Amino acid sequence: MSTVQVYETFTSIQGESTFSGVSCFFIRLTGCNLRCAYCDTTQAFEGGRQRFVGDLVSEAVASRSRIIEVTGGEPLLQEGFSDLAAALLAEVKRPLLVETNGSCDISLIPDGAVGVIDVKTPGSGECGSFDVANIDRLRAQDELKFVIGDHHDYEWSKQFVVKHGLNDRCHAVLFSPVAGTLAASDLAGWIVEDGAPVRLQLQLHRILGVL
Ligand code: SF4
Repeated sequence: MSTVQVYETFTSIQGESTFSGVSCFFIRLTGCNLRCAYCDTTQAFEGGRQRFVGDLVSEAVASRSRIIEVTGGEPLLQEGFSDLAAALLAEVKRPLLVETNGSCDISLIPDGAVGVIDVKTPGSGECGSFDVANIDRLRAQDELKFVIGDHHDYEWSKQFVVKHGLNDRCHAVLFSPVAGTLAASDLAGWIVEDGAPVRLQLQLHRILGVL
């Protein structure tokens, strides 16, 4: 039976997608290949323990959440990811989100799941990590997320969205301010002023002070 290295599981409020505000059972896998300047989950770079996919599915089924999310770290790095995602889709029968940093092949995310896919901006310190081949792999249900630290990040992200016609390729393009660095009202003002083809996204879980 397949295993994955799990840092933690928990139930909380989904905070970073169009599912924001919905109760969610999170499976956070250990390890990440990036080192973003604003990372709020550095503790998950290592540690945790190997867990059987079947046990995680049982835990997800028992949770009272409305949706399930596999996150990290970077979940697509793990060999057992595909078996985990397939089992969750088959047995939990609730919407499944997979949050990924955009550097890995998103075709690993099964068709029945929603990809919440980062495009790292200059301010992250990991700009250029995005696998541009992922643009052609986007499905109608996927969501792209840009975490914006300043006006330069905003301009860079807006140009990336327009250049690649991202609004026509996926369900949503989300611009989210780095909490504690950029005022959401500033980002909102830029989006409104430009008529930018994006959706403002606040990191609801951080506003609430939950995981
Ligand atoms: S990709 Fe996510 S988990 Fe990895 S360093 Fe960046 S913010 Fe942290």
